Amino acid sequence: MEKGFGGEKPHALVVPFPLQGHINPMLYFAHKLVSHGFLVTFVHSEHNQSRINEAKEKMKLEDADKDNIRLVSVTDALAPEESRSDVPKLLDSLQDTLASSLHKLIEDINKTEAHGITCAVFDLSLYYVRHVAKNLDIPYVLFSTVSVATCVVVQESSTLISSGIVSPNGTATVDKMINVLPFMPPLRSTKLVWMFGSEDQIKINMEMTFEAANAIREEFVVFNSFYDLEAPSINDYPGKDTKISTIGPLISPGILEGDLGQGEFGRQGNLRAEAVECLAWLDKQPRQSVIYVSFGSLAILNAKQFQELAAGLEATGRPFLWVVRSDLMDGTIGALPPGFAERVGDRGCLVSWAPQLSVLCHPSTVCFITHCGWNSTMESVSTGVPMLCWPSSFEQFLNCTYIVNEWKIGLELIPNGDGLVEKGEILNAVEKLLVGEEGIDIKKRATFLKERARESVKAGHSSLFNFNLVVETLRSKRI
Ligand code: UDP
Repeated sequence: MEKGFGGEKPHALVVPFPLQGHINPMLYFAHKLVSHGFLVTFVHSEHNQSRINEAKEKMKLEDADKDNIRLVSVTDALAPEESRSDVPKLLDSLQDTLASSLHKLIEDINKTEAHGITCAVFDLSLYYVRHVAKNLDIPYVLFSTVSVATCVVVQESSTLISSGIVSPNGTATVDKMINVLPFMPPLRSTKLVWMFGSEDQIKINMEMTFEAANAIREEFVVFNSFYDLEAPSINDYPGKDTKISTIGPLISPGILEGDLGQGEFGRQGNLRAEAVECLAWLDKQPRQSVIYVSFGSLAILNAKQFQELAAGLEATGRPFLWVVRSDLMDGTIGALPPGFAERVGDRGCLVSWAPQLSVLCHPSTVCFITHCGWNSTMESVSTGVPMLCWPSSFEQFLNCTYIVNEWKIGLELIPNGDGLVEKGEILNAVEKLLVGEEGIDIKKRATFLKERARESVKAGHSSLFNFNLVVETLRSKRI
């Protein structure tokens, strides 16, 4: 560990859950802390750190602001060959080891640095490590990478069990639309946030959901969201002892000011190198013409679905930019339909990882086929791009419900009885969004929310006000 990092400034330890969708918003948050006079030690897993280094090398990127933000890494306790996309396994292995790794890390820093760690920001999914900060008597906050509404459902999980809608094992007893709380849109009982994986897995997820719901009582939780987007969930949040604070959208300041580049910060935590050349391809497309397609960092399509999506995009006759991660397809036969590349030609641009924010900001981009991960949702909201929702897991169904039914800034792609989103469904949804009357209203709403998002981080508005309170909390006590 290099000596001398520290001094009079407050020094925050920032610890995301080691997945792309957690690293991104927490890295932006870390940079925001730096711009408010903090030093930050940002903790990656060793596995991710080497992927990030590799991606940076490919992109020829320097570390941004390395005088104030230092990257360190700790083990995730998985063997090198084990998959880091198996979220339950990753959760498990970190739960066994992370608290002691962080404790040791802080001890080392405090022994060798001028002033050591003075505060901490922990990913909400790692709520159990908050004891490390408690033991050291330093202030900390928990950082949620999901929406306030998602946490509302987590808080209400035991009520759903006592009302008989959910079994004690976490599975739904009936498949119907339910009203979790009066201020929420109806949600499908079989698609609640812990209902992913096998029945055994759902049982484990349910236990973790209970634990998390209990653990965050009396805690300070910050969200990458903003008041105007989630006012009902914020105003009537059911965990009365939890202090919640929305400080989003957390994206590069340049983007919010209308700068098309994603900015240095956005690229610093990439686990994959970005295919920035797709921006030159976008430059050549007509304004408001390109369908952007991405399913985030984890979602998998089976081979049949992959082919159907390709056929749907082809059928639209419109230009599209499609992120096909190397691990997007499940199985070995997930190739593109025969002759696809020749027929589509330069109208289609396929990349393995896109500079997503720059793509969403680009004037050629007209809509976003998305899995509704929370970051993708916030990024789309902040750039005013209407969404075609294709949720598959975690809290993506809830995000989809909000996008379609509450905020009315997108449409849902509905799978057939076999769970397949058919070519015709893709074509119809694209046309409805881009040509129909409904599409015009959706675009208006998306533009309205974009303005609210951008306003919220300005002086005198909610997210900046809340951010300043978080800063005060983190500065509140020094060791
Ligand atoms: N992302 C990106 N390039 C891509 C696909 C995704 O930079 O080609 C980023 C995206 O901007 C977002 C994150 O990866 O910040 C994905 O997070 P999200 O919560 O949307 O989904 P997850 O990967 O967690 O399912």
